[in-house]
Amino acid sequence: MKFDLPRTGHHALHNTGRSGAGEPAPGGGVRRWVLWLALVGLLVVGQTLLVVLTLRYEDSRGMDRAEAVASSAAQDVRRLTVQRLQAVQALQWSAQAEVWSSQARQMLARFPEIGRLERRDPQGRIVTAADSPLGQPLFTLKGRGLLRMDSDQACAAALNSLSPQFSRSYFVPLPSGAGMEVVDVCLPEQEAGRSSGYTVATLPLGQLLEAVAPPDNRYELSFVEADGARLARYGAARGLGLYVARRALDLPGVVLEIKVDDTLGRPGLLPNVTTALVLGLSIALTVVVSLLLRDMRRRTDAERALAESLAFRKAMEDSLNTGLRARDLDGRITYVNPAFCSMVGFTAPQLLGSGGRAGSLPPYWPPERVEEYRRRQSTRQSALLPGQPTPPDAAVQDNLPATLQGFETVFMRANGERFPVMIYEAPLVDGAGRHAGWMSAVLDVSERQRNEEVARQQQERLQATARLATLGEMASLLSHELNQPLSAIASYASGCQNLLAEPDEHTVPMLREAVARMGEQAERAGRVIKSVHDFVRRREQLRETLPVQTLFDGVLPLVRLQARKSGTRVEVQQHEAGLKVQVDRTMMEQVLLNLTRNAIQAMEGHTPPLQRVLKLRVQGLPHGRVQFEVHDCGPGITPEVAARLFTPFFTTREDGMGLGLSLCRTVVEQHGGTLEHEVPEPEAPLPGCCFRFTVPGAAGAALAGNGAGALQTG
Ligand code: ADP
Repeated sequence: MKFDLPRTGHHALHNTGRSGAGEPAPGGGVRRWVLWLALVGLLVVGQTLLVVLTLRYEDSRGMDRAEAVASSAAQDVRRLTVQRLQAVQALQWSAQAEVWSSQARQMLARFPEIGRLERRDPQGRIVTAADSPLGQPLFTLKGRGLLRMDSDQACAAALNSLSPQFSRSYFVPLPSGAGMEVVDVCLPEQEAGRSSGYTVATLPLGQLLEAVAPPDNRYELSFVEADGARLARYGAARGLGLYVARRALDLPGVVLEIKVDDTLGRPGLLPNVTTALVLGLSIALTVVVSLLLRDMRRRTDAERALAESLAFRKAMEDSLNTGLRARDLDGRITYVNPAFCSMVGFTAPQLLGSGGRAGSLPPYWPPERVEEYRRRQSTRQSALLPGQPTPPDAAVQDNLPATLQGFETVFMRANGERFPVMIYEAPLVDGAGRHAGWMSAVLDVSERQRNEEVARQQQERLQATARLATLGEMASLLSHELNQPLSAIASYASGCQNLLAEPDEHTVPMLREAVARMGEQAERAGRVIKSVHDFVRRREQLRETLPVQTLFDGVLPLVRLQARKSGTRVEVQQHEAGLKVQVDRTMMEQVLLNLTRNAIQAMEGHTPPLQRVLKLRVQGLPHGRVQFEVHDCGPGITPEVAARLFTPFFTTREDGMGLGLSLCRTVVEQHGGTLEHEVPEPEAPLPGCCFRFTVPGAAGAALAGNGAGALQTG
């Protein structure tokens, strides 16, 4: 039995102060640290990832946006040029020069993307031309004649393919000092399967870009050649070259690409880190809070369980009527329960703290025994923990006995009364597995001892009473038995007197005869008296080894005395010669006397005199015991009587005391045996009864087997 105590609260009472109560369990601390580190690590990794991913995402979004703008710009350029070419084609149908010019001017006013319209004859000569009213006229600084080579090539190609053809782009200087990159588109005219001339539209590339630029002005748009050379650009600001997308424009006759360049660079890190931080911190906060909550819940659960178990233990300790006392290794009392306090009559504060090597004496130590108790305490301390005030590890603990053998000692109550107690002590092991002291269960055995004493006295009284009862009967038997020899002696004496009154020659021999008879009768009376005397004299209870025959010699004269009175035959059957038993002689004789007397009495009332036989059998048993049987031919025992047979004072006889059998059983049980009875022939009119018991045999004597039998008949 070991008392494992929890680490907190109540345990402080038992603690020596060295066992580290209240320290967190080492495993739990490490676990918590690991959890925290993991949490921080996860947060750092998570944050970094979040930032990197956010930046990448922003990057790809910027790129995607540029691509989308480029695609839609390229599409718009294509759509716009197709629309404008359709408009220009419509113009071709107005043959007269005036009509053409006015319509061309109207068209130029409507469409800023067209810088100039020319009508050429089949040989390529310019017939009519109109410049856009929305901008500066194109070929003022440098004449058209110098800048028409590209448009001529486009027209030649247009004539071949019979479809509109674009020229390569070229630069037109303007009077303002600037200039613009333009591209010509040449539309062939056909009349009756022959070329009837061309219409050439000059499209300033800058205007085209302006027309397709997205309204937010975020992107710089430009036309570039296949080798990357820029032809024209549009946009409020320069692109940063970070998010650039290019799309080829499949205009017939010219290779052009539209390039879109974002004017915004990478999104600033700061706002994103902030977002990520906020996000990350909120996640971290959630996690930490949930962890804390869980931790708190566990703690609360543990505390509740602890409180419950403490309350349970307190109730248990308070309800016990066994005294509990805890002492530390130094012998100082650290805990007592209410039962202990009421047992010794001191309050807990009076007891706590006393008993150490340096402290005061426990108030319940009787002053005359202080020295003895101190010696015992120091012997135990030095024996169990040699030079080791606090055993450091479980190895020492393993060497401790789980429970000390209970020992009896004497305590003193507050009123000075000494009383015996039984103490059972067990090592007290604290939460860290260290031996911290001793827990003792203290039982007040004064009551028990008193009861035992009372029981012993009662038993003695019972035996004495039974003995007296037997003696009473003996006395009446004695008077009956002595009556015979005494009256014989008396009649011999009166005979002698008669002879002496008239003496003759026969007087002397007759007197001699009479005196001899008187002597015999006196001897007989003496034997009777001696047997009773022997029986009464042996009072002290002693186990001795004696032959069964000696036992019989002691009781048989008395048995026969009684048997003769009722005309009963006594048969003794001893299966083995020289059997010896180890018994209290007087007690055993009394058992045999009681059983034989019961048997004789049972037969007296019921059995015809000739059938009255009392058998005494004895035989050795295996396992070194000797069995006695007392057998009668009486009326047997009914179940109702049998049920109460051994109850003291149960009797069916008028003059009976009802103590004989209960006494017999006690004596037999004291000898380690049992007293049984049996009705051998239940159906017979006189079934008889057999009482049987065993007693320990003596070593060396023949105990078992069917050795030489000796049959005595009396
Ligand atoms: P007592 O002899 O004073 O009555 P006992 O305790 O010796 O007290 O016997 C109790 C009772 O048991 C007797 O009164 C009798 O009824 C019964 N009894 C004892 N021995 C025998 C026996 N051999 N045969 C029949 N009855 C018996």
